[in-house]
Amino acid sequence: MAALLRRDGGAHAVLFYGAEGAGKATLARELARGWLCKTPVDGLGCRECGICRSVDAARAVDLVWVVPQGASRLIHLSAIVATNDSESVPVTELFRTMPLMARHKVVVIEDADRMNAAAYNALLKTLEEPGPHGRLILTTSAISRIPATIRSRCLTIQCSLPDFDADVTDAERACSEGAVGVVDRIRKAPEVYASIHGLVDRLANAPRSQALALGAEFSDLAEALQKPLGLVARAADTEALRALAACVVEHPAYGPEAAQAVAETHRIVQGNGNMAIQCDALFVALMSARAGR
Ligand SMILES: [Zn+2]
Repeated sequence: MAALLRRDGGAHAVLFYGAEGAGKATLARELARGWLCKTPVDGLGCRECGICRSVDAARAVDLVWVVPQGASRLIHLSAIVATNDSESVPVTELFRTMPLMARHKVVVIEDADRMNAAAYNALLKTLEEPGPHGRLILTTSAISRIPATIRSRCLTIQCSLPDFDADVTDAERACSEGAVGVVDRIRKAPEVYASIHGLVDRLANAPRSQALALGAEFSDLAEALQKPLGLVARAADTEALRALAACVVEHPAYGPEAAQAVAETHRIVQGNGNMAIQCDALFVALMSARAGR
């Protein structure tokens, strides 16, 4: 962390990713303090000055901390650019002016995977050129859902929890995206998750004519998650898509467009899109997104 801060003028956007409870928000606060503080000690915020204390008291004027809002837990466009229903200072507005008190202006976007497509698009330009004083910190526990266009503009840093038990299977490891806490959920329906993991493998070598059949198979697997996990249909569908994305990301046969395609389907289904229809389209897209085809 200190090394990251000492390299001032280096990265202006950092993405912390890792399991829930891995300390991403703590690191985000530490980094924000280091960027804001005018009398940093060894690159880190001094923790003594008014600016550092205002960060800890969540009232720093040069810091905006964005978190998902509402029952849907989404980050809307209004958090990024000024719209009629912007509540706090939107990101682009904050960066328009010089810092009031601190060394930089800092935006933290927590659970950045909860941004909708409009918000992602609006953020892209700012991520590229936040201005000389602008700094951004994103956190996520679902790196596979962050579009590649966002990821490529950030310095990505993994925050890890202690290692898995030796008895965790490949499917459990893949479907959990490395999050120990998620393994418990997966063990409520181990066969279903193992089938999702296996499906991604089969898809890697299947002829194109099988795309729709495999899509239908996946849609059935999503349905099979409802009972053991106690989820309603849409929640089971999005959970299955989350696991699918995790398996696709770590599978060598798929290029970056594959993860993008799953992320996009996840957003559509979450917004009440028809799962079966979306799966047809998704599996055709996944076939095309296989590396070297
Ligand atoms: Zn300070």
